[in-house]
Amino acid sequence: SLSDRLAATFKNLRGKGKLTEADIDGTAREIRRALLDADVAVPVVREFIARVKARALGTEVAQSLNPGQQVVKIVNEELVGILGGETRELHFAKHPPTIIMLAGLQGAGKTTLAGKLAAHLKNRGHQPMLVACDLQRPNAVGQLQVGGERAGVPVYAPHPGVSSETEEATGDPVAVAEDSITHANEKLHDVVIIDTAGRLGVDEEMMTQAANIKSAVGAHETLFVIDSMIGQDAVNTAQAFNEGVNFTGVVLTKLDGDARGGAALSVAQVTGKPVMYASTGEGLKDFEVFHPDRMARRILDMGDILSIIEQAEASWDKAEAAKMAQKFTDQEDFTLEDFRAQMQQLKKMGSMKKLLGMMPGAAGMRQQLEQFDDSQLDRVEAIINSMTPHERNAPKIINGSRRARIAKGAGVHVSEINSLLERFTQAQKMMKKMASGGGGGDMPGGMP
Ligand code: GDP
Ligand code: MG
Repeated sequence: SLSDRLAATFKNLRGKGKLTEADIDGTAREIRRALLDADVAVPVVREFIARVKARALGTEVAQSLNPGQQVVKIVNEELVGILGGETRELHFAKHPPTIIMLAGLQGAGKTTLAGKLAAHLKNRGHQPMLVACDLQRPNAVGQLQVGGERAGVPVYAPHPGVSSETEEATGDPVAVAEDSITHANEKLHDVVIIDTAGRLGVDEEMMTQAANIKSAVGAHETLFVIDSMIGQDAVNTAQAFNEGVNFTGVVLTKLDGDARGGAALSVAQVTGKPVMYASTGEGLKDFEVFHPDRMARRILDMGDILSIIEQAEASWDKAEAAKMAQKFTDQEDFTLEDFRAQMQQLKKMGSMKKLLGMMPGAAGMRQQLEQFDDSQLDRVEAIINSMTPHERNAPKIINGSRRARIAKGAGVHVSEINSLLERFTQAQKMMKKMASGGGGGDMPGGMP
């Protein structure tokens, strides 16, 4: 499997130092293969790899990872980012009804999706209404009516109540769309979902019709529905629809098949629009809110490796935290070296406030700690770096001339050295207070 192949390219070296071109190239080859296997369009793969390389080169390798894993981590982050990062929800209009239009090629799954989306929104307390604006295909209206019935949602159609099974529906889709909004206002529907016609290939007439419907009703959301099996055509189709109707979001259909979902990356990268939903079958319930992180795993097809990376990072943090906990109970040993290690750990965790949340009974120190400015961590680290190991381990020896030397080395004013040493003495006192107070060295998070 890909995971195995990738694992084989990883050197067993732990991190340290920065990613080199060689580290990146070995892994990038496998990533490229994974993306092509997932049917990501060739130019998109090329651009994506270039982007990852540019970002990865010179990146520090986390202590817990080896260089190959570090590259995969970056690839995964980039992928999730391009796919939209967070799940994008529908934007509801301030003044209902919220008008959602579906656009896409014939057979993409628009009509099927209309019923699913209506059911989904109904479950969330909305009163949606479906609108049949595909007046091109025989029985297109009937198909939507069946979907609406299943979802328990009314369908607005040009000839309500008349089955169009035997005759092709006629009428002007733009007029139908406009009338439907008046109807929705009367019936107090807060969401209107408009199903439109598609063609097997992109053609101008279809695109113009969709654009006309969109502007006539002032659609709040235009969802581009695309078959995930479309493969290399995803780029051209997405570009055409983006130019034609300037869609706001993407729905990926037929993800229940073999498709690994590369189309999601192709569309997202080329248009910059988020994927919002996925359709995974013909049933009403085969419908999911789209999660970029899960999709990234599916496209890369290396959940194993990503899990290993996450575990490695988690266990490394745990080991560091345990070491820190030991220092809390053993205040005699607490040195500037430890102080620096803590700061590095803090930076990794994000913020001092986060640490506060981890320490029980630290209420008394809260004020002092909150005064600690997270953005100062880098400067403090630079100062400690300018000290000799002996000075770090025995801060008491840092006299006036040593202070001047350290300040020069770190490029800061001597007053900053003074305030750091003061702060350090305070921290030492805190350690003592913590260690002697109440629960002793009890640290949260199941640490030994
Ligand atoms: P439209 O032309 O865009 O309206 O597409 P339809 O909604 O008519 O769907 C075309 C075909 O694809 C129908 O046979 C659907 O049952 C099928 N279909 C739609 N969505 C999915 C899906 O997520 N998975 C599978 N397996 N089939 C789907
Ligand atoms: Mg249809």
